[in-house]
Amino acid sequence: MADSPACRLCGAADSWRHVLLECTMARSIWALAPESLVEHMSINENPNTRRWLFNMQSLLNHTEFTRLGVTLWAIWSSRRKVIYEDIYQTPFATNAFVNSFINGLQLLTKPRGEQVVVQARPNRWIAPPENLVKINVDAALLRNRSVGTVAAVCRGRDEVFMGASTVTFIGTNEPTALEALAMREALALADDLYERRILVASDCKVVIDNIKVNNAASYRAIIREIIDRSSSFLVCSFSHEFRSLNTKAHNLAKRALPLGVGRVCG
Ligand SMILES: [Zn+2]
Repeated sequence: MADSPACRLCGAADSWRHVLLECTMARSIWALAPESLVEHMSINENPNTRRWLFNMQSLLNHTEFTRLGVTLWAIWSSRRKVIYEDIYQTPFATNAFVNSFINGLQLLTKPRGEQVVVQARPNRWIAPPENLVKINVDAALLRNRSVGTVAAVCRGRDEVFMGASTVTFIGTNEPTALEALAMREALALADDLYERRILVASDCKVVIDNIKVNNAASYRAIIREIIDRSSSFLVCSFSHEFRSLNTKAHNLAKRALPLGVGRVCG
């Protein structure tokens, strides 16, 4: 990729991660990307390019993942223009290119004559079915450190707060494994609250799918434990929800990061 171990734009240590995510030029372009995309990127610290991309694919929906790919490509092109042609493009120009390229892709994929209907994601909390309590879970990873936190927030059908807990882990840098630990924490919280009929909601679809089909993921021991433990409940369902519906657990996980290692309930 480069002849020297130093970045040719800023002089920092060179790597794929530096070039595409961390160099000043890349940061300026990512600063203009949608917040949810950047948030998901910030919890994925996998140093291996391929695994990083696989993780992103599991964390993002198709539209976000397309934007990620196009933006990475645009950053790479802008950088080469500076280094080899001495042509500087502003981050706004690069971002405008990304937007117009994605709009072009959408026009190509939509059937002729059909209007593009942009569906807004709901952002209100969704109540669980009758006689169930709902536990929203989420995970957050501290950037550049192997410290992760999971959070679970339990509420009744009328949205009344019933309890919450967070757990901090050291040595975990696999975002999906951390999301699975968040699901496990939901079951522990339900036990603490003596709730036997629960619905656990996560914004990580891949973990839900792995639980449903008992898939042997790299974090299979956690999946196995969740499945075993879920059988002790009268009702225990798992559902995928978009992050916009999961803000309380998401914010709790993020804020719990500085609290230190261990389990905090309340
Ligand atoms: Zn640099």
